Amino acid sequence: MATMAVAQRNYHRPRLVAAQLLSVALPGAFALFSHGGLEYGVMAVGALVLTFMIWRTALAHCLDVQEGIRKDQALNAQNQRFDAALNNMAQGLCMFDGDGRLLVCNRKYIELYGFSDDVVRPGIEFIDLLRHSVEVGNHSVADFDPLHDKFVEKMVSCESSTFLNELNDGRTIALSHQVMSSGGWVTTHEDVTERRHAEARIAHMARHDALTDLPNRAFFQERLREALVRIPARKQVAVLCLDLDRFKPVNDTLGHSVGDSILQQVAERLKECVRENDTVARIGGDEFAIIQSATFQPEAGKALAERIVSALGEPFYVGNQQISIGASVGISLGPQDSLDANQLLVNADLALYQAKAQGRGRYSFFVPAMDQQMQARRELEEDLRRAVVNGEFEVFYQPVINTHNEKIASFEALLRWNHPSKGMILPGNFIAAAEDIGLIVPVGEWTLRQACLEAAAWPKNIGISVNLSPIQFRVGGDLVRSVADALVVSGIDPERLEFEITEGVLLDETLETQTILGELRKLGVRFALDDFGTGYSSLSYLRSFPFNRIKIDQSFIRDIDTRSHALSIIRAVADLGTNLGMSITAEGIETAEQLEHVRSEGCSQAQGYHVGLPMDAEATSRLLEKSFPADDREAA
Ligand code: C2E
Ligand code: MG
Ligand code: MG
Repeated sequence: MATMAVAQRNYHRPRLVAAQLLSVALPGAFALFSHGGLEYGVMAVGALVLTFMIWRTALAHCLDVQEGIRKDQALNAQNQRFDAALNNMAQGLCMFDGDGRLLVCNRKYIELYGFSDDVVRPGIEFIDLLRHSVEVGNHSVADFDPLHDKFVEKMVSCESSTFLNELNDGRTIALSHQVMSSGGWVTTHEDVTERRHAEARIAHMARHDALTDLPNRAFFQERLREALVRIPARKQVAVLCLDLDRFKPVNDTLGHSVGDSILQQVAERLKECVRENDTVARIGGDEFAIIQSATFQPEAGKALAERIVSALGEPFYVGNQQISIGASVGISLGPQDSLDANQLLVNADLALYQAKAQGRGRYSFFVPAMDQQMQARRELEEDLRRAVVNGEFEVFYQPVINTHNEKIASFEALLRWNHPSKGMILPGNFIAAAEDIGLIVPVGEWTLRQACLEAAAWPKNIGISVNLSPIQFRVGGDLVRSVADALVVSGIDPERLEFEITEGVLLDETLETQTILGELRKLGVRFALDDFGTGYSSLSYLRSFPFNRIKIDQSFIRDIDTRSHALSIIRAVADLGTNLGMSITAEGIETAEQLEHVRSEGCSQAQGYHVGLPMDAEATSRLLEKSFPADDREAA
């Protein structure tokens, strides 16, 4: 025992144990040998053998003790490493035994939930841990039972799973739960709030327009499909497509930041026009669409369209600028017009097209005939493109006479389309389409050049008037260049060339339009305000731009015979024009009486079927030869 104790005490120094044993045994053995005699010799040897065996036993025990200590140390080191790993994890971790008692958890777990170290210790039961979670405010008291049931269901289930734990402070913790073979479970906890927010932001961005935060086209169609599936019996869903009337010129001239601000204000006004469960979306640049959710009243769509037209008809303010935009609306109804989301949108778009064709600030319901009209329109546009390539256009000329001597003063160039199968088509049937697809620009350029070239062969005192479309003013300096080219190529005096423009050109009053008009004026050409009296505020345009001539619209001339005040209007316009230094032409003179009337009311020039029909270039030359024989021309 004593030697064991010695070995235990000196376990890590076996040599010391040997030295201690020998220091006890050797003197005894030496004394016995020195005594002499066989029995003392045997006793001495026995003592040495016994000492040796004790030393061997002590040595074996010493090794055992050393081994045990080494194992303890290794286990300790491993535990420390395990603790370090556990506490340095980015995720929270906890482990429960089969009875639902906490075996181990890391620091992150305690921190993630704001638990108290004193409460959350190994041995705590799962249900108490959940109570503590409620105490520290992660969940409300009312959530306790449902949460408990949910957790228990997940934890005791044998399947591993991942689920989300929403905390009261708005954070979301993702829990991954793994069942252990020993019967307990281990769960990792990760704060995924940021990631979830980022995912939600990306998902939102994919379905919303960045500028207005309204649903985009894809999301709109998704919602429309859902709405169409759910329409209750005898109810309907209305789809409204709307387009801002004067947005493009505002955006082009006042800049994109002003345009952006207007689009945002439009979005706000639209949201105010609809009910909570309706959808307002931005489906294109200045195009918006609305789903008016199921309603019993067929008039609901009409009422909403009226609200929108009126709300967007009010002026917008950006900085201290007041801007008028206005909107047109097309409406289609499901299931009446279609139950297909795409088709309903197409139908609403067709109705919108119709509304815009009727003028600004209108709304229109889809009717099946619009489909055919659109088909016809597409064919017309195709035909027009071909006509430009094939040169199917021709310019006709209609004389304008001086009322005092009834001599020809000028001709108005009027475009004709010699369609290969439909015959001659008048401009009223194709100019609008050519404007819509931009073809009016090359067609207008061609007309101008052709008219100038023909006019070059006429007497030098005969003017030529060419109509200009508002669209020709929207494409930068091209118009100025083409006018200058036409003058150079034909060699006519710029004073002979007059452009007829309608209020439509001046309506937007953009800086660009004014610049173009100014540059054209510098070239020495003249301007006439065409169709005077058919617009809204002609008088203000007369003040803002120095026209050389006013052409009174033919509707006033027609009214002379039936309405007494028509003559007074003609007289007032003639007086006003004369005072402003502008000459007055009466359009649409069909009878000698009308000619007499306009002459006596002060119109200096007249144009109309009574004066002369529009005719081709050859007939024009013949008329001029007859009216101005060669001798007279020389004189002119
Ligand atoms: P506008 O400039 O007012 O031209 C006068 C229109 O009245 C012409 O119709 C002419 O034929 C018609 N007209 C002339 N006298 C009488 C009359 O006594 N009674 C009646 N009822 N009508 C008369 P047209 O040639 O069909 O042209 C229609 C419109 O098309 C023109 O109206 C003009 O705005 C536009 N247009 C014609 N040619 C061109 C062109 O080359 N470029 C552009 N942008 N527009 C053009
Ligand atoms: Mg005209
Ligand atoms: Mg006219």
